[in-house]
Amino acid sequence: MPSITTPTSLTKKALAILLATLMFLSVAPSADEKHIAVYSPVASYTLPVLDRAGREYVGLLELLEPLGRVSTQSDGRRLRLRYNALDADFFAGKTRAKIHGRDFDFGAPFLIENSRGLVPLSSLSALLPRFLGTPVNFRESARRLFIGTEGIQPSFRLDAGNPPRLLLNFSAPVNPTISTEPGQLRMVFKRDPVVSPGSQSISFDNKVITHASYSENNGDAELDVAANQPLMASFTDDRKTIVISAVMVPAVQQTPAAPSGVGAGSQNPAQARSAANIASGNNNNNNNVRRVLAVVDPAHGGDERGAALTDQLAEKDVTLGFARLLRHELEIRGFAVALLRDSDTSLTLDQRAAAANVARAVVYISLHAVSQGSGAQVYTALLPVEGTSNGVFRAWNAAQAPALPLSRIVSAAIVAEMQKREFPVRASSASLRPLNNVFMPAVAVELAPGADGVADLTSPNYQQRAAAAIADAVVSVRDRLGAQP
Ligand SMILES: [Zn+2]
Repeated sequence: MPSITTPTSLTKKALAILLATLMFLSVAPSADEKHIAVYSPVASYTLPVLDRAGREYVGLLELLEPLGRVSTQSDGRRLRLRYNALDADFFAGKTRAKIHGRDFDFGAPFLIENSRGLVPLSSLSALLPRFLGTPVNFRESARRLFIGTEGIQPSFRLDAGNPPRLLLNFSAPVNPTISTEPGQLRMVFKRDPVVSPGSQSISFDNKVITHASYSENNGDAELDVAANQPLMASFTDDRKTIVISAVMVPAVQQTPAAPSGVGAGSQNPAQARSAANIASGNNNNNNNVRRVLAVVDPAHGGDERGAALTDQLAEKDVTLGFARLLRHELEIRGFAVALLRDSDTSLTLDQRAAAANVARAVVYISLHAVSQGSGAQVYTALLPVEGTSNGVFRAWNAAQAPALPLSRIVSAAIVAEMQKREFPVRASSASLRPLNNVFMPAVAVELAPGADGVADLTSPNYQQRAAAAIADAVVSVRDRLGAQP
């Protein structure tokens, strides 16, 4: 069932949520402080890098602590350290130390600051094996240290369908920060030991998704995918596969303005634009190509199971099956459809809203399921009263405000189509995230059992009736949705 938040708690959370979303959306590696990333089978972590006398240093205790049992004692001039069963002695300002009774040369002075030992980054390849007993791979220029792991090498597969998709496979789950900008999708891996796919740059024999490149810097690995259409990414396969799809659509020819000139006095910008095109004789196909993308969001997923519909049946599985059916129903009606998840993956509400907003679809449809009630319930956002400001930085909890009239039109159309099919249905408003945070017309449809009870929720026939009604409803209001920028 939907998680309904009260307007007051929404307001309190608004700033944090906005920040979280900006982080998710923005690229922001700017003016980063220096970091080193450490990857090992027991822990992956990053540590700050300190500049001292023209060299880079890292805290020794901080470096070893995640890897084993470590303790230190220092009088400010000397630092004694015990790592597991191994003892070592370090001296402030000296390049030599004793580790397990043997000399070690740092090649630069060891430093003690506030009883903390600092070691030069340039010594790590030699220093760490003395403690760990295993070789390490330190890529100093990128400040990435691999201990007992080869890293995760991505592989690419281009699916040259329409729209084309690029599948990135990883041998272990990954958790990059994903951002998009025109012509590019950027994935930054901070905690994942992702390594080069074998070459810094890969070209694809595809007109839309053209190439990918790999780089690493300041503890981060980065994969960039370039395309000449907007891209969006989703995870499948327990976050081991990232599917990057071009957001492009069958070119739908805009219906010419009605001869009676209905568009003339209308408030509808698409009609007005169309009329203007005709007026200027600029009525060729290119100018009338309209993108028709729908975002379908199966609610819940991964560890977040949603409602327990029966002992066995989790809401997250019903919403995914229902979403796939709805995708099919919309596709056969000429829409391009992006599912926000196409597997049992967890996504936060902010990630869902941000992904939808980035995709610039004409409609966003969230899907839920409940074991009580009958038929379906269609929700539109209930916005907090104080949040309807319309500035450049529109309040995140009221991002939906400008689109709400159209959302209600979509909701009414779904109700009408379901009623035609004698599907019990009700419409209501709720302060329901992420509806409140989506810029485009947005509804949530909650599927409830029919005459056969909870068994209906997994019945393809029952789901298909609901999906077809929703798809027909979206088609019936498509011209009005297309009016959104
Ligand atoms: Zn739910």
